[in-house]
Amino acid sequence: MEFGCPVCNGLMSMDELCDNCDQVMEDLGRIEDFYAPYSPYEEQDDIPILLESPNNCIHLYTCPECDSDKHILIPLEIM
Ligand SMILES: [Zn+2]
Ligand SMILES: [Zn+2]
Repeated sequence: MEFGCPVCNGLMSMDELCDNCDQVMEDLGRIEDFYAPYSPYEEQDDIPILLESPNNCIHLYTCPECDSDKHILIPLEIM
């Protein structure tokens, strides 16, 4: 039995609205993918937010209108 992120696997998309301007936010992908290039020698375990939510895939969403961004926790599902 394996767990995976339904958004990463294309099974689902989140319509996340911007807190500031109610625009639909754009999914930039997993935050691991953003941390990785800047810290090639660190394990994922070093990213605090990942430690806090081991059963979630954390995506970075950004607003095309006001450039604000936020982390969205997506619960892993059985694939
Ligand atoms: Zn994901
Ligand atoms: Zn916005």
